[in-house]
Amino acid sequence: MFSHKPYLIAGPCSAESKEQMLEIANSFKNNDKVNMIRAGVWKPRSKPGNFEGRGEDALKWLQEVKEISGKKVCIEVATPEQIELALKYDIDAFWIGARSTVNPFTVQEIADALKGTNKPVLIKNPINPDVELWAGAIERIQRAGVKDIACIHRGFSSYDKSSIYRNKPNWAIPIELKRRYPSVPIYCDVSHICGNRTLLASMAQRALDLDLDGLMIETHPNPDAALSDAKQQITPAVLFEIIEELSIRKGIADDSVALTIGTKIEHLRQIMDSMDAEIVDLLAKRREIGEQLGDIKMENNMPIYQPERWRDIVESRTDWGTQNNFSEEFIRKVFELIHEDSIKHQMELSNEIKK
Ligand code: PEP
Ligand code: MN
Repeated sequence: MFSHKPYLIAGPCSAESKEQMLEIANSFKNNDKVNMIRAGVWKPRSKPGNFEGRGEDALKWLQEVKEISGKKVCIEVATPEQIELALKYDIDAFWIGARSTVNPFTVQEIADALKGTNKPVLIKNPINPDVELWAGAIERIQRAGVKDIACIHRGFSSYDKSSIYRNKPNWAIPIELKRRYPSVPIYCDVSHICGNRTLLASMAQRALDLDLDGLMIETHPNPDAALSDAKQQITPAVLFEIIEELSIRKGIADDSVALTIGTKIEHLRQIMDSMDAEIVDLLAKRREIGEQLGDIKMENNMPIYQPERWRDIVESRTDWGTQNNFSEEFIRKVFELIHEDSIKHQMELSNEIKK
C-alpha cells in the first residue's frame, strides 16, 4: 500500500461531524496527490474534559468518505476494542499514536489484536526521543504478521518550551530508523512537529530533502474552528498550494549524490547539536557545584580564588587534553574561561549575600 513516493496522508486531526468529513472527501476526490485520508476517531487528550472524538459515529462517516473520495482512510487505534470496531467498519489502515508507541504493553496488545487482519499499520514515534522504543514497536507489529508497515515521524516532546516547534524534529532519530529498517517507509507528520501552520511548508520541504518517504498533514475545512489542534491545521486549498510548491527529488544520479551528502551532513549536525547541548548542560551543572563550593568558602571565611587549586586544574586538564590530541594552549584557554566564569559567579553570589 505504501509504495508510492512521496506518499501523502491528509485529513483533519479529528472527525468532528459528518458535514466536515464529507467536505474533506469532496475536496480530495479529484486530487491525485493525496493518497490517504486521515481522521482521529478517538482522541488522546493530555487533560480530561476536552473533545475526545466521535467514536463509532465517525467510523460510519468514514465509510462515506471512502465512497465519495475513492481514497483509503486511516484512523488512530490504541486498544483492541477500537481495532475490533474499526474492522467492523472496514477502515483501511491504522496508525499507532505517539502516546501508545511509548508503552510496550499497549503496543503488544495492539499487535495481538491485529494478528490475521492484513491491515496496513503506521507507527508514530514515541513522544520521547528513544529510537529503541520506536524500533521495538516496529518489531512487535512485524511479529504479529503485519506486512504493510510505515512509520510516522511526528517529533518529540520536551520540557523546553523555547523551541519554535511543538515537538522537536531530532532528525537523527528518523534517519537512524531508516538506516535500520531500509524497507519501512517513514512519513513526516509536519503538523504535529510544527504545531503552527506557518511553519508547515518549510518543514515539509525539509522532510523530503532528508529523503523521508512522504508526509502527513492535518487538513480541515475550517481550521480555526477545529475542535483539536486548530493552530496547526490548514484548508485543503492551502494544502494543495504547499504540495505544488514542494520540489520533489527524483533520485537521478547527481541529485541522489547531493541528497546522500545532505542527509549525512544533517545527521552529523544533529549529533553535534545534541553534544553541544550536553556540553552546555554540563557547564551549568559545574557552575552549580561551584556555587556550593562558594557557600562553604564563605561560611569558613576562605578566599574564593585559590591559586594552588587553579594550578592543579591547569595541570590535570592539559594532561587529559594532550592524551586526546588537544594542544596545551587550547585546553588552557578553555579552562581559563570556565574557571573565570566560576569565580565570577561565586563572587557575585557572595556580594549579594553580603548586601
Ligand atoms: C494525531 O495525529 O492527531 C495525534 C494525536 O497524533 P500524535 O500521536 O502524534 O500526538
Ligand atoms: Mn492532531
